[in-house]
Amino acid sequence: MTTSHTTPADAEARRAVAPVICYPVSTLPAPDLDLYARARDGAVKVGEWIAAPREAAHFRVAAGQFFRITSIEGPQVGDLNLWNAADPSERFYSGKTRALHGSHLSTGDRMWSSFPHLRPMATITADTLDWYGVDEFGGRVHDVIGTRCDPHTHHLLSGEDYHHCCHSNLTRAYADATGLPVRDAAREVHDVLNVFMCTGFTRDTGQYFMKASPVRPGDYLEFFAEIDLLGVLSACPGGDCGSEHSSDTAPCHPLLIEAFAPAAGALDGWVSPPRNGYSGTHGR
Ligand SMILES: [Zn+2]
Repeated sequence: MTTSHTTPADAEARRAVAPVICYPVSTLPAPDLDLYARARDGAVKVGEWIAAPREAAHFRVAAGQFFRITSIEGPQVGDLNLWNAADPSERFYSGKTRALHGSHLSTGDRMWSSFPHLRPMATITADTLDWYGVDEFGGRVHDVIGTRCDPHTHHLLSGEDYHHCCHSNLTRAYADATGLPVRDAAREVHDVLNVFMCTGFTRDTGQYFMKASPVRPGDYLEFFAEIDLLGVLSACPGGDCGSEHSSDTAPCHPLLIEAFAPAAGALDGWVSPPRNGYSGTHGR
């Protein structure tokens, strides 16, 4: 039974306290976007992969290369996981990325890695949907708030089994990339960057919402790989996520992944970021 407590006399004064930003980013090491742009100008394509509808693709990109995720054929949302290619204990940390850059990412924002590494794994260098901004519902594009659609939550809510949620697609692709059995691979899959997904929180109940993505074929999100990366991208069964996910109902489309290598010397002055400098003693 819920209890409704008496509103204190100074309730409005307490609510009126101004917020402070938890993590001011003024001291964050800033990416040299001009250097990246110059390096990208002379870069040549070195790889291409397709994430088929309701499936995932795995890909490897070397530190200092770029990778681009492009919508082809129709509006489609992608769920992205990243690992350090040489040490899978270092993986994308969606929660800390959200705390540093906000609920949705765009050009200049970075995808940060898990503790104790906590360094940029990738930097967003181009976003053709950056014009979208924030809509009247509070929706924005490319979130780090959703976790990924998964068969466990789906079973919890419906009692049914569905095997093409992003979590399962990412699991199978990671298993293919590493040779791990799927039960082990599933434990390595982590909270994602929701590429092209348009999401927010409802103002009245604070619930996570999605709406049809504004992405159209030809739109892309491009990244600079700060370390050697293993990536896995799922073409979400929700398609443009305008109706439902975790089913075969929504129209679904493939996503294109491409890698580009800059010319020799184009990145002079850039170094792959070191692991986080904290001593790791935790006071003992
Ligand atoms: Zn999904």
